[in-house]
Amino acid sequence: MELNVKDLSVSLGGTPIVNGISLQVREKKFVGLLGPNGCGKSTLLKSIYKVIKPDAGQAHLSDTDLLKSSPKAVARKMGVVGQFNDLSFDFTVREMVAMGRTPHKKLLDSDNAEDSRIVDEAVRKVGLEPYASRSYLTLSGGEKQRVILARSLAQQPQFLVLDEPTNHLDVKYQLQILNIVRSLDIGVLAALHDLSLAAKYCDYLYLIKKGRVVAHGVPKAVLTRERIAEVFEVDCEIYEI
Ligand code: ADP
Ligand code: MG
Ligand code: MG
Repeated sequence: MELNVKDLSVSLGGTPIVNGISLQVREKKFVGLLGPNGCGKSTLLKSIYKVIKPDAGQAHLSDTDLLKSSPKAVARKMGVVGQFNDLSFDFTVREMVAMGRTPHKKLLDSDNAEDSRIVDEAVRKVGLEPYASRSYLTLSGGEKQRVILARSLAQQPQFLVLDEPTNHLDVKYQLQILNIVRSLDIGVLAALHDLSLAAKYCDYLYLIKKGRVVAHGVPKAVLTRERIAEVFEVDCEIYEI
């Protein structure tokens, strides 16, 4: 699966937020989006996973026109971990993860042996087996984040969109989550904040400022002190790559 985004523009409340972004995630590549708070990363990702309707542009996942497909059709191919994952119903961890199967179902409650196996495997993969029967609402931020990743794994996605997937996680789970994602060997588009994690895990980076791509390339080429100063308006030592 290849993601191709072309000249995508999004306005919110009359303000242009994403200003003609084009990007590509080639087969099985892990691509990072970096940029300051409010530069439009989440807005761009939401328009790709169809929560926000762009004003103009195109987004294709291989032959699928994402902007013209139903959310359910998109969810059969693409897993999503959004930036803010809270929910007010009192579901168990396992029930949350089982929701990842819903794009494959006609009815929400039609669980079967195959679904059970996939859900249990996803729960195990993120290290949440001991919590499988606990209420989602009782979990810590990092545990919730892993539930949401497990839910998207249960979708058996062919592509993943991640919005700050290591939020709330301690360093062990930051690395665990990114290692799991990388081991899936599928294309990934991820908004990230940690420059050193981006440098370590991403095959390719896009630096975004004010809704525009200001640089793109392999991490070594993009994460220079000058670029970081330009994009984040802060002068800091280059991160170890
Ligand atoms: P990022 O993920 O890069 O931190 P976002 O895409 O979440 O940034 O937000 C980009 C900008 O869009 C922010 O300045 C935010 O305040 C603004 N924004 C988000 N929703 C709306 C809205 N409904 N109306 C106006 N501005 C909005
Ligand atoms: Mg890979
Ligand atoms: Mg964001």
